[in-house]
Amino acid sequence: MSTVDTNVVLRVSNLTVAYGGIQAVKGIDLEIRPGELVTLIGANGAGKTTTLKAITGTQAWHGDISYMGQSIKGKASYELLAQGLAMVPEGRGVFARMSVTENLQMGAFLRNDTAQVKADIERMFQTFPRLKERAKQLAGTLSGGEQQMLAMARALMSQPKLLLLDEPSMGLSPIMVDKIFEVVRSVSAQKIPILLVEQNALLALEAADRAYVMESGLVTLSGKASEMLDDPKVRAAYLGEAA
Ligand code: ATP
Repeated sequence: MSTVDTNVVLRVSNLTVAYGGIQAVKGIDLEIRPGELVTLIGANGAGKTTTLKAITGTQAWHGDISYMGQSIKGKASYELLAQGLAMVPEGRGVFARMSVTENLQMGAFLRNDTAQVKADIERMFQTFPRLKERAKQLAGTLSGGEQQMLAMARALMSQPKLLLLDEPSMGLSPIMVDKIFEVVRSVSAQKIPILLVEQNALLALEAADRAYVMESGLVTLSGKASEMLDDPKVRAAYLGEAA
Protein backbone atom coordinates (compact mmCIF):
# COMPACT_ATOMS: atom_id res chain seq x y z
CA MET A 1 0.00 0.00 0.00
CA SER A 2 1.49 3.31 -0.96
CA THR A 3 -1.16 5.91 -0.23
CA VAL A 4 0.49 9.14 0.90
CA ASP A 5 -1.01 10.20 4.20
CA THR A 6 -0.13 13.82 4.90
CA ASN A 7 -1.58 13.49 8.35
CA VAL A 8 1.33 11.34 9.48
CA VAL A 9 4.81 12.76 9.97
CA LEU A 10 6.49 9.41 10.52
CA ARG A 11 5.17 5.93 9.90
CA VAL A 12 7.14 2.85 10.85
CA SER A 13 5.71 -0.45 9.62
CA ASN A 14 6.95 -3.93 10.39
CA LEU A 15 10.41 -2.64 11.28
CA THR A 16 13.05 -5.25 11.98
CA VAL A 17 16.69 -4.66 12.89
CA ALA A 18 19.31 -7.31 13.54
CA TYR A 19 22.85 -7.07 14.86
CA GLY A 20 24.45 -10.11 13.27
CA GLY A 21 22.21 -12.99 14.27
CA ILE A 22 20.52 -11.09 17.09
CA GLN A 23 17.14 -9.52 16.36
CA ALA A 24 16.97 -6.31 18.38
CA VAL A 25 13.72 -5.06 16.79
CA LYS A 26 11.27 -7.74 15.69
CA GLY A 27 8.62 -6.11 13.53
CA ILE A 28 7.20 -2.97 15.13
CA ASP A 29 4.69 -0.38 13.94
CA LEU A 30 4.47 3.18 15.15
CA GLU A 31 3.45 6.57 13.90
CA ILE A 32 3.76 10.22 14.78
CA ARG A 33 1.16 12.71 13.65
CA PRO A 34 1.64 16.47 13.23
CA GLY A 35 2.39 18.26 16.49
CA GLU A 36 2.41 15.10 18.60
CA LEU A 37 4.74 14.28 21.45
CA VAL A 38 5.07 10.52 21.36
CA THR A 39 7.13 8.54 23.82
CA LEU A 40 8.74 5.15 23.43
CA ILE A 41 9.37 3.54 26.80
CA GLY A 42 10.56 0.14 27.95
CA ALA A 43 13.26 -1.66 29.86
CA ASN A 44 16.98 -1.66 29.09
CA GLY A 45 17.76 -3.48 25.87
CA ALA A 46 14.15 -3.41 24.62
CA GLY A 47 15.26 -1.95 21.27
CA LYS A 48 14.36 1.73 21.69
CA THR A 49 17.70 3.25 20.67
CA THR A 50 17.97 0.77 17.81
CA THR A 51 14.57 1.96 16.54
CA LEU A 52 15.78 5.58 16.55
CA LYS A 53 18.98 4.58 14.75
CA ALA A 54 16.95 2.89 12.02
CA ILE A 55 14.72 5.96 11.62
CA THR A 56 17.76 8.25 11.28
CA GLY A 57 19.54 6.03 8.77
CA THR A 58 22.43 5.04 11.01
CA GLN A 59 21.51 1.37 11.30
CA ALA A 60 20.44 -1.05 8.56
CA TRP A 61 16.81 -2.15 8.81
CA HIS A 62 13.99 -3.99 7.06
CA GLY A 63 10.34 -3.07 6.74
CA ASP A 64 8.92 0.33 5.82
CA ILE A 65 9.66 3.75 7.23
CA SER A 66 8.10 6.82 5.68
CA TYR A 67 8.73 10.40 6.67
CA MET A 68 6.40 13.14 5.42
CA GLY A 69 4.76 10.56 3.19
CA GLN A 70 7.99 9.43 1.47
CA SER A 71 9.93 6.22 2.03
CA ILE A 72 13.32 6.89 3.63
CA LYS A 73 14.80 3.58 2.48
CA GLY A 74 18.43 4.08 1.47
CA LYS A 75 18.60 7.68 2.64
CA ALA A 76 21.65 8.83 4.59
CA SER A 77 21.40 10.66 7.92
CA TYR A 78 22.51 13.97 6.41
CA GLU A 79 19.81 13.77 3.72
CA LEU A 80 17.19 13.17 6.40
CA LEU A 81 18.57 16.02 8.50
CA ALA A 82 18.29 18.29 5.47
CA GLN A 83 14.61 17.31 5.37
CA GLY A 84 14.16 18.27 9.00
CA LEU A 85 14.63 14.95 10.78
CA ALA A 86 16.95 15.74 13.69
CA MET A 87 18.14 13.51 16.50
CA VAL A 88 19.70 14.20 19.87
CA PRO A 89 21.54 10.95 20.56
CA GLU A 90 22.04 9.18 23.85
CA GLY A 91 25.29 10.55 25.26
CA ARG A 92 24.53 13.88 23.58
CA GLY A 93 27.34 13.93 20.97
CA VAL A 94 28.31 17.57 21.30
CA PHE A 95 31.53 18.69 19.59
CA ALA A 96 33.77 18.64 22.66
CA ARG A 97 36.55 20.82 21.27
CA MET A 98 34.22 23.51 20.00
CA SER A 99 32.69 26.30 22.06
CA VAL A 100 29.02 26.41 22.95
CA THR A 101 28.40 29.05 20.28
CA GLU A 102 30.31 27.05 17.65
CA ASN A 103 28.21 23.98 18.46
CA LEU A 104 25.06 26.02 17.90
CA GLN A 105 26.44 27.31 14.60
CA MET A 106 27.16 23.71 13.56
CA GLY A 107 23.52 22.89 14.20
CA ALA A 108 22.64 25.39 11.49
CA PHE A 109 25.29 24.29 8.98
CA LEU A 110 22.68 23.42 6.34
CA ARG A 111 21.03 26.82 6.60
CA ASN A 112 22.06 29.91 4.65
CA ASP A 113 19.84 32.50 6.34
CA THR A 114 22.78 33.95 8.28
CA ALA A 115 20.90 36.78 10.02
CA GLN A 116 18.15 34.42 11.15
CA VAL A 117 20.75 31.91 12.41
CA LYS A 118 22.24 34.65 14.59
CA ALA A 119 18.80 35.55 15.88
CA ASP A 120 18.07 31.88 16.60
CA ILE A 121 21.30 31.53 18.59
CA GLU A 122 20.12 34.46 20.73
CA ARG A 123 16.75 32.73 21.11
CA MET A 124 18.53 29.56 22.29
CA PHE A 125 20.44 31.65 24.81
CA GLN A 126 17.14 32.98 26.12
CA THR A 127 15.74 29.46 26.45
CA PHE A 128 18.97 28.20 28.02
CA PRO A 129 20.54 31.07 30.01
CA ARG A 130 23.12 28.60 31.34
CA LEU A 131 24.46 28.22 27.80
CA LYS A 132 24.67 31.97 27.35
CA GLU A 133 26.85 32.26 30.45
CA ARG A 134 29.10 29.62 28.93
CA ALA A 135 28.98 30.72 25.30
CA LYS A 136 32.75 30.62 24.86
CA GLN A 137 33.39 27.54 26.99
CA LEU A 138 34.46 24.32 25.25
CA ALA A 139 31.49 21.97 25.07
CA GLY A 140 33.56 19.04 26.39
CA THR A 141 34.00 20.87 29.70
CA LEU A 142 30.28 21.43 30.31
CA SER A 143 28.41 19.37 32.90
CA GLY A 144 26.23 16.49 31.71
CA GLY A 145 23.06 18.56 32.03
CA GLU A 146 24.59 21.51 30.23
CA GLN A 147 25.72 19.20 27.42
CA GLN A 148 22.18 17.84 27.14
CA MET A 149 20.84 21.39 26.85
CA LEU A 150 23.46 22.19 24.23
CA ALA A 151 22.65 19.04 22.25
CA MET A 152 18.96 19.95 22.25
CA ALA A 153 19.66 23.58 21.35
CA ARG A 154 21.96 22.45 18.54
CA ALA A 155 19.27 20.16 17.14
CA LEU A 156 16.72 23.00 17.33
CA MET A 157 19.10 25.21 15.33
CA SER A 158 18.50 22.91 12.36
CA GLN A 159 14.80 23.95 12.42
CA PRO A 160 13.61 20.34 12.78
CA LYS A 161 10.29 19.13 11.45
CA LEU A 162 10.63 16.03 13.63
CA LEU A 163 12.84 15.79 16.70
CA LEU A 164 14.04 12.44 18.02
CA LEU A 165 15.33 12.49 21.59
CA ASP A 166 17.19 9.51 23.03
CA GLU A 167 17.01 9.42 26.82
CA PRO A 168 17.53 13.12 27.48
CA SER A 169 17.22 12.63 31.25
CA MET A 170 19.93 9.98 31.48
CA GLY A 171 22.43 10.60 34.26
CA LEU A 172 21.10 14.04 35.19
CA SER A 173 20.22 15.48 38.58
CA PRO A 174 16.50 15.85 39.34
CA ILE A 175 16.65 19.63 38.85
CA MET A 176 18.30 19.20 35.44
CA VAL A 177 15.76 16.54 34.48
CA ASP A 178 12.95 18.98 35.28
CA LYS A 179 14.63 21.67 33.18
CA ILE A 180 15.10 19.29 30.24
CA PHE A 181 11.45 18.21 30.39
CA GLU A 182 10.38 21.85 30.57
CA VAL A 183 12.26 22.40 27.31
CA VAL A 184 10.76 19.26 25.74
CA ARG A 185 7.30 20.58 26.63
CA SER A 186 8.03 24.03 25.24
CA VAL A 187 9.35 22.58 21.96
CA SER A 188 6.23 20.46 21.77
CA ALA A 189 4.09 23.55 22.43
CA GLN A 190 5.60 25.01 19.25
CA LYS A 191 3.98 22.03 17.48
CA ILE A 192 7.29 20.42 16.53
CA PRO A 193 6.56 16.68 16.58
CA ILE A 194 8.78 14.73 18.97
CA LEU A 195 9.63 11.07 19.44
CA LEU A 196 10.99 10.76 22.95
CA VAL A 197 12.78 7.62 24.11
CA GLU A 198 12.89 7.57 27.89
CA GLN A 199 13.77 5.35 30.83
CA ASN A 200 11.88 7.69 33.13
CA ALA A 201 8.45 6.36 32.17
CA LEU A 202 6.52 8.54 34.60
CA LEU A 203 7.91 11.82 33.34
CA ALA A 204 7.65 10.66 29.74
CA LEU A 205 4.00 9.62 30.09
CA GLU A 206 3.14 12.85 31.89
CA ALA A 207 4.61 14.90 29.05
CA ALA A 208 3.47 12.84 26.05
CA ASP A 209 0.27 12.69 24.01
CA ARG A 210 0.71 9.03 23.11
CA ALA A 211 3.05 6.23 24.08
CA TYR A 212 4.43 2.94 22.87
CA VAL A 213 5.86 0.36 25.23
CA MET A 214 8.63 -1.87 23.89
CA GLU A 215 9.65 -5.21 25.35
CA SER A 216 12.31 -7.46 23.84
CA GLY A 217 12.10 -5.91 20.39
CA LEU A 218 8.30 -5.75 20.19
CA VAL A 219 5.70 -3.08 20.88
CA THR A 220 3.53 -4.67 23.54
CA LEU A 221 1.27 -1.74 24.35
CA SER A 222 0.33 1.57 22.78
CA GLY A 223 -2.21 4.29 23.38
CA LYS A 224 -2.91 7.64 24.93
CA ALA A 225 -0.26 8.52 27.50
CA SER A 226 -2.88 9.74 29.99
CA GLU A 227 -4.71 6.40 29.78
CA MET A 228 -1.50 4.47 30.27
CA LEU A 229 -0.74 6.51 33.36
CA ASP A 230 -4.06 5.33 34.77
CA ASP A 231 -3.56 1.70 33.78
CA PRO A 232 -2.69 -0.42 36.86
CA LYS A 233 -0.73 -2.90 34.70
CA VAL A 234 1.43 -0.11 33.27
CA ARG A 235 1.87 1.39 36.70
CA ALA A 236 2.99 -1.96 38.07
CA ALA A 237 5.34 -2.80 35.21
CA TYR A 238 6.86 0.59 34.41
CA LEU A 239 6.21 2.98 37.24
CA GLY A 240 7.34 0.70 40.04
CA GLU A 241 3.99 0.40 41.80
CA ALA A 242 2.49 -2.70 43.37
CA ALA A 243 -0.12 -4.29 41.10
P1 ATP B 1 18.63 1.10 26.80
O1 ATP B 1 17.46 1.72 27.47
O2 ATP B 1 19.44 0.24 27.74
O3 ATP B 1 19.47 2.07 26.01
P2 ATP B 1 17.30 0.19 24.38
O4 ATP B 1 15.87 -0.16 24.51
O5 ATP B 1 17.62 1.51 23.78
O6 ATP B 1 18.00 0.04 25.78
P3 ATP B 1 18.96 -0.93 22.34
O7 ATP B 1 20.15 -0.09 22.65
O8 ATP B 1 18.18 -0.61 21.13
O9 ATP B 1 17.97 -0.97 23.56
O10 ATP B 1 19.44 -2.44 22.27
C1 ATP B 1 18.58 -3.50 21.89
C2 ATP B 1 19.37 -4.80 21.87
O11 ATP B 1 20.34 -4.77 20.81
C3 ATP B 1 20.15 -5.07 23.14
O12 ATP B 1 20.09 -6.43 23.42
C4 ATP B 1 21.58 -4.64 22.78
O13 ATP B 1 22.53 -5.38 23.52
C5 ATP B 1 21.65 -4.98 21.32
N1 ATP B 1 22.57 -4.10 20.60
C6 ATP B 1 22.51 -2.75 20.54
N2 ATP B 1 23.51 -2.24 19.79
C7 ATP B 1 24.22 -3.31 19.34
C8 ATP B 1 25.37 -3.47 18.51
N3 ATP B 1 25.97 -2.39 17.95
N4 ATP B 1 25.82 -4.71 18.29
C9 ATP B 1 25.21 -5.80 18.83
N5 ATP B 1 24.11 -5.72 19.61
C10 ATP B 1 23.62 -4.50 19.87
